[in-house]
Formats: sequence, structure tokens, C-alpha cells
Amino acid sequence: MLKVPFFRPDIRDDEIDEVAAVLRSGWLTTGPRAERFEKDFAAAVGARHAVAVNSCTAALHLAVAGLDLQPGDAVLVPAMTFAATAEVVLYMGAHPVLVDCDPQTLALDFEDAEQKLADLAAGRLPVPAGARCAGILPVHLGGLMVDVGKLRAFAERHGLWTVEDAAHAFPAAWRPDAAAPWRRCGEGTSEVTCFSFYANKTITTGEGGMAVTGDEELARRMRSLSLHGLSNDAWGRFEVRGAWDYRILAAGYKYNLTDVAAAIGVHQLARAEEMRRAREAVAAAYDERFAGLKELELPPRRADRVHAWHVYQVKLRPEALRIDRDAFLAELGERGVGTSVHYRPLHLHPLYEERGWRPEDLPVASEVWRRTVSLPIFPGMRDDEVGAVADAVTDLVRRYRR
Ligand SMILES: *Cc1c(COP(=O)(O)O)cnc(C)c1O
Repeated sequence: MLKVPFFRPDIRDDEIDEVAAVLRSGWLTTGPRAERFEKDFAAAVGARHAVAVNSCTAALHLAVAGLDLQPGDAVLVPAMTFAATAEVVLYMGAHPVLVDCDPQTLALDFEDAEQKLADLAAGRLPVPAGARCAGILPVHLGGLMVDVGKLRAFAERHGLWTVEDAAHAFPAAWRPDAAAPWRRCGEGTSEVTCFSFYANKTITTGEGGMAVTGDEELARRMRSLSLHGLSNDAWGRFEVRGAWDYRILAAGYKYNLTDVAAAIGVHQLARAEEMRRAREAVAAAYDERFAGLKELELPPRRADRVHAWHVYQVKLRPEALRIDRDAFLAELGERGVGTSVHYRPLHLHPLYEERGWRPEDLPVASEVWRRTVSLPIFPGMRDDEVGAVADAVTDLVRRYRR
């Protein structure tokens, strides 16, 4: 039986040789490779400033800290996401206001965001009534960007900052219509956009992340906070006596990216579009194989987006199948296919249940997550591997159709 892992990183000799060169250079932590990775990444997404850090979680934390999120404030966060998106709000002593998802894309639903702001004002949420909403933190789920036009309009209407969790969305793009130029994810659509280079993300440094912004002062604050809140005084505010000298400006964090990691990143970055196209081809092959299976809902596509295809997620139609999602995943596992679920929504985890969130607060997420299945998709996936996954899924659907 051919075993197909859920993900396999695409690491080549370029990365390996560059890491070896760093190890031989005598400079292991943040240095010339991290600086080059920042420059190259900023250019790749069309951002003015990029701050390399050791995870996307760190980037999100620096973003909300840099934007001066206050204890007691509220931030709109999708329920359908990974732990990191909302926990950085909690780090600041602020309150995540969980927002339901669109039933098709599973991305943050802006209509429900409006409703949640009204609920917040009326004290109908497990968040102190009257908490000031400071920002909105949407996720480009699976690599399909949210509707940036709606995001901007929503944020302007309510006077909010926006931070994009783009952990799945490099490289990705959006445009308002077919005549407009593409806008890359990270190209100035928000105050800060945060990317992940975790081991199974679209490009990897093992662990790593990047915060990009068009705001020079915000970039400076995030960079300082990423290294203990130190100033090396690039702005000349202090009398600096030598390279050894610095001033502590704030209680910062230890989030800087090592040159060992950045050495992997510069070569991953150079191949990012090639790897995206390889994933897109896998998605197209799945779509073609599953087109006749009405028991499955296929991942949404949009003509006005360039999809990063970090995740290929199908939804089971329970009215057409005699098998539930958990059993479906177990059967795929028995057939050698690695799978995942994106996600058990936040409000169905103990941390948020204990804070008072209930399933009926997020009815779409509460229902739809029980039907989602994420299939293997990665750039080095061979045709026989794609075929084996498609065969296993097709076989299961035929066997369990009503
Ligand atoms: C992976 C992920 C993160 C966190 O990325 P790290 O680099 O592991 O910190 C944040 N948000 C989402 C949606 C993710 O999938």
C-alpha cells in the first residue's frame, strides 16, 4: 500500500548548502541572512518593511503590541482558526470576540462581525459589556484571501485597525474585479500582515515568521519588541558609545529569527511561486477526480484571488453519506492517507468554553467543522500519490453513499 503523508517539506541542496555555510561562518543568530530574507520577502509581497521573527505567533503578538492594544479592549477574531490567532489578544489582556464563518469558504463572516459588535455593545457576549473594539484579525483560511474590499470597508466604518493572519497565504493575491491590478497578500491591505514559516506551511524555515507593514514607526516598534525592547539606536535618539551599547525602551520579547533558519528561508522564498503552482496542480487534479461526487463539497475558488493552496479541504454532505467525518478520516488512515482537520473552532475548546462561549454563539462553525476533511497537498506530491488519495476518497464515497 502506498502511504501518502499529509505533508512533506520540499527541501533541496540549496537550503542544505546555505545552512552549512551559516554553520561554518561562525555567525548563527540574527545576522546577514535574516536581513537578506527580510529584504527579499518584503520585495516578494510588495511591502515596505518586513520584520523576521521566530514564528507567526510572535509576528501576531508583535503586531497587536505594536498597535498598542490595551488590556480590556476587544478584537474581532474568527472562531474558525488555529489557537495562535486569538491567544495573542489574550497575551495583551484583551478580549477576543469570536466571529462566525461563511458556510462555504469558512472565512470570517463580515455580517456576523457586525452582529457581534452589536452584541458586544449590548452585553450579550462573554466579554465585559462596553469593551472598546480596537481591531479585527481575519485569517486567509487555507490560502484563499478574505474579501479585502469588505475588510477595508468594515474597518473604516468602525474605526478599527486590521491585522491579517496570513499563515496560510503566501503567495496569495486579491483584486476587486477582473480589470483591477492584483494586490498581493501583504501589499498594504492592513496595518500588519503576518506570515508563518512553520514546518508544514507554504514556505518553511522549520520555525519562523514575518510581520510586514507599510508603517515605518510601527516596523521600528515591532523590531525593537522582537529583541527585548532594545534600541540599537538606528534613529540616533541616544548617545551610543559603541556596538556594545544599547538602551532598553520596553519590556520586549525574544522573537528574533536565527540566520540558520533564514538560510533555509531565502531559498524557499525563491521557489515560492513554483511550489504554489505545484500545489495548484494537485488541487486541480483533485477537483477533476471529485467533480462527479455529489456527496462532497469541493473547496471554493474565486476568479478574483490567487490561491496559495495551503489546504485542500472537502466537506462531507451528511444527507448523502452513511459515514461521519471521524470515521471517514479513520478509513483514510487505514488506506495510508494522512489527513487533518482545519479546525475544531476555538469556542469548542476548553479555554473558550470556560470563558463562556457557547456553540449557539457561532452556529455555522459549530455545525460545519464536523464535516471538514483536509487532504494531502504539497509541492513534491507525485502523480501516484495524488492518484492514491483520490482513489481512496472515491472508494469510500461510493461505499458509503446513501
Ligand atoms: C500555523 C498558524 C499560525 C501560527 O504559526 P506559527 O509560525 O506556528 O506560530 C497562526 N495562524 C494560523 C491560521 C496558522 O495556521
